[in-house]
Amino acid sequence: MGAQSHIALLDGAFKANRVLGALSDDAVAQLAPHMMKRSFEKGTPLWSEAQPSGAITFPLSSLVSITWADLLGGGVEVGFAGNDSAVGFSADDVTRGTVHVPGTFLQVRAERFWSLAAEIAELRLMAECCREAMLTQARALAACNALHDVQARLCRWLLQVSDRAGVEITSTQEEIAQLLGVRRTTLTLIAHRLQQDQVIRYRRGLIVVRDRARLRELACGCYREMAEQRPPAERMVPTVTRLWSPPKPDRDVRPPLGSR
Ligand SMILES: [Zn+2]
Repeated sequence: MGAQSHIALLDGAFKANRVLGALSDDAVAQLAPHMMKRSFEKGTPLWSEAQPSGAITFPLSSLVSITWADLLGGGVEVGFAGNDSAVGFSADDVTRGTVHVPGTFLQVRAERFWSLAAEIAELRLMAECCREAMLTQARALAACNALHDVQARLCRWLLQVSDRAGVEITSTQEEIAQLLGVRRTTLTLIAHRLQQDQVIRYRRGLIVVRDRARLRELACGCYREMAEQRPPAERMVPTVTRLWSPPKPDRDVRPPLGSR
C-alpha cells in the first residue's frame, strides 16, 4: 500500500484522537505510514512492570487504565487515557496499562516513533504534553485517594469513565473496588445505596449511569478540577496563540460537562 492511500485510510482515525488531530498535515504524513489500527478487548495488557511497552498507543474509542501494581496482581488507578491522550512515551516499569473499555486504537512502535521524533519537533512536543498531563492527573488522583471518601471517589470515577465511554460501563464491583483501593464490601454498600436512589443501575458486570446531575453533586471536587485541566491537545498549542484566546467564562455559569 502506498503512503498516500495509507494516510487516506487512517485519516478518519487520526481525527478521532485529539492529540493526533492537533498535528500538522506534514507530521501526519510522516507518522501515518508507520501506524497500525488495532482492536483490543477489555483486559488486554498494554504494558506491565515485567514487560514495558514497546509501542505508543493512541485510543480512538476506548479507555486505558493505568494502575500502580501491587504484589497480589491488583492495582490502584493512577491514571487513564481516552481519545484525548496517548500512552507509552515513558519506559515505565512500575505501572501497568490495561484496556478498560474495549475499542479501537492506533499504534506505532516506540522505537520508530522516537526515531521520527528526533527529526520532528511536533512529535516531541506531543509526547511531552501527554506525559505532563498524565503526571498532573496522577498527582490529582493521589490526593483524591488520600483525602476523599469512597462514595465521592466512586461518583468521580463513574463520571470520568462515562465522559469517555458513555453511560453504560462494563465493570464489576470487584474491579472498581480494586481501582479505587477500597474493600469490595464497602463499594457494594455504596453502589446499593446509589441504586436505591436511582443514581445508577447495576447488574453483574454492567453499571448504567441514570442521573448525572446527582452524580456531580455527590462526586468530590476533583471531578471538576480534573475536567478543567488543559488536555494534552490544548497544551500542544503554542503559547503565543493561547495568549490571544478569549478568557473562559466564569466557572459558575459554565454548563455542566455532560451537556457540552
Ligand atoms: Zn477527590
